[in-house]
Amino acid sequence: MIPNPVPGNDRIDVKNAMSVDRPTLGDQSAIALYRLLRLVALEDIIGRGAAGTAYVAGKKLGVALGLTSLDALLSVCNSLSLGIIKVPVLTESRIYVEVYECVTCSGMRPVGRTLCQFEAGIVAGAVQTITGKSTRAKELTCIGGLGHDNCGIEILL
Ligand SMILES: [Zn+2]
Repeated sequence: MIPNPVPGNDRIDVKNAMSVDRPTLGDQSAIALYRLLRLVALEDIIGRGAAGTAYVAGKKLGVALGLTSLDALLSVCNSLSLGIIKVPVLTESRIYVEVYECVTCSGMRPVGRTLCQFEAGIVAGAVQTITGKSTRAKELTCIGGLGHDNCGIEILL
């Protein structure tokens, strides 16, 4: 049975988008599909503004996740295979996150600029919800963007 056969404009929320029912293929897909959308198609249409758009999109999603602890954030990052996450700095005013094997850029030939604003936004939004403080995040090192060994995201609270 089709749950909503009437054509409509229902807003697609996080929970709905993350509901996957693919009996044969499962909930995994090729990273290339996401990268082609984020790095090739979006940049082709929006140009360098894609970075800012990706950050705002990530931040809104990070807030919408409604997480209550850093452990929950690490668990989400793990379930999405976003990368291998380390948090070497965790203070009241500054958090530094290192992403190894980053889903967005790991393995690419460096292009001379950071690329993982979407991930930075997700972390910023989630930390904002968890701490109740406004956040600003910036990617300082980038594997596929700048040739570093991890994507380093600084979150200022
Ligand atoms: Zn990166």
